[in-house]
This record gives sequence, C-alpha cells and structure tokens, in this order.
Amino acid sequence: MLKTLDIRELRTGMAEVIKYSVIQDRDFFYFLQNNIASAYALDETILFRIIKTCCTIKAAITAQDEHESGLRAILNFGHTLGHAIETLTGYSRFRHGEAVAIGMAAAARLSAAWGYCTQDACNNLITLLEAAGLPVQLPSMERDSYLAAIQKDKKRERGALRMVLMKNIGEVFVEEITVEKLASAFKNYI
Ligand SMILES: [Zn+2]
Repeated sequence: MLKTLDIRELRTGMAEVIKYSVIQDRDFFYFLQNNIASAYALDETILFRIIKTCCTIKAAITAQDEHESGLRAILNFGHTLGHAIETLTGYSRFRHGEAVAIGMAAAARLSAAWGYCTQDACNNLITLLEAAGLPVQLPSMERDSYLAAIQKDKKRERGALRMVLMKNIGEVFVEEITVEKLASAFKNYI
C-alpha cells in the first residue's frame, strides 16, 4: 500500500511516526534520524521496524488507558495547534500530518520557552521534522484566529485548555494551560 502513495502522503504519515518517537521512545527517535531517507525509499526492513514500533507504542498506551482517563491524551501531541491549522486553512492547504508537524514544532517551542525541555531537545525535533520534509512554521494568521480555533477544538475540557508538552525526546506530559498563557506566548515563541 505504501508503494501506491506519493512522497507527500508518505511525509504526512511520517509526521505521526515522529510523534510516536517523541511521546514514548527516544531510541526510536534516533533510529528515525538515521533512517528517514531509507524509509522514504521504502526499504522494507526499515519500514517494518517503523510500523511495528508505532503499533506497539499505540497498543501499550491504549491498553494502559482503556477508559481514556488521561494517558491516551499524549497521543494528541501536536494536534491542538494541528487541528486549529487545519480548521483555519479549510482542510485544503495542509495534509493532516503536515498540520501536526507544525503543531509539534510549536508545542516544542512552547515547552522550551516555558522551561519544560531544553532548547536542544526542541531543536532536535524541529531538525528531524525538516529532514523528513515536513513544514515547521505556523502559517501567518491573526493570533486571535488561532486562539478561537483552539478553544473550539473538542479536546478542550471545562474551560481549561489541555496541551501535550515535551519534557524531553521520548517523554511528554499533559498540562492544563490558560488561554491567556497561550496568548502571551504566541507572539514571542511560536
Ligand atoms: Zn493525527
């Protein structure tokens, strides 16, 4: 099936692959750093490891959190802003994975700015996304448009905005942040 996809579709899938490495598996992140080109060349050994690792991580997270009590939320890394980007661009300019890539880069920048991860960890993620041919810059739009789209997103609960932030490559956590905190970070960091 992967052989039937064009490179842009492979890249959009790779965004979710990179997500799995960032949320759970640092060694897998390094593996991807070293093997992106082989993956896009559809090297079967590399693809097998990628697919198996992603399925294993997802199965482990959902098994630990059958009732969606919280852990599963880390699967949404990059998706808070990703969904906002898709909404604001009418689901036409970006494929889902591209929007998620931009969302992950933004989440990493926020994590570094707020002191949850090092600038190196943030840079490493952005460098891998770029090496994978994915966009990392937020499309230029009014900040208030982003904030409105984020607040409408269904992941929002009881007025609090829950965002998945990065502690390190391979380790993320869910943080409740206020819209005001996100708003003030927008201009300077994202
Ligand atoms: Zn997704």
